Amino acid sequence: MDEQKPQHTAAEKRVCARCGTVAEGTPPTWTCSVENGVRRYYCEACARENIRAIEGRLDSDWW
Ligand SMILES: [Zn+2]
Repeated sequence: MDEQKPQHTAAEKRVCARCGTVAEGTPPTWTCSVENGVRRYYCEACARENIRAIEGRLDSDWW
């Protein structure tokens, strides 16, 4: 008799705050951003866009 145990991964799952992509653990390509005391994770693709947005905001401060 084989008992099939449900597969539970010990790693936490990360959900991209932008596109909703789910990943197990925290991929090194993902970016963690703390906004208003809340940690938000962005996948690789969204991190690039997020970085652009951040840089854009920083640039706007110089205006
Ligand atoms: Zn994403």
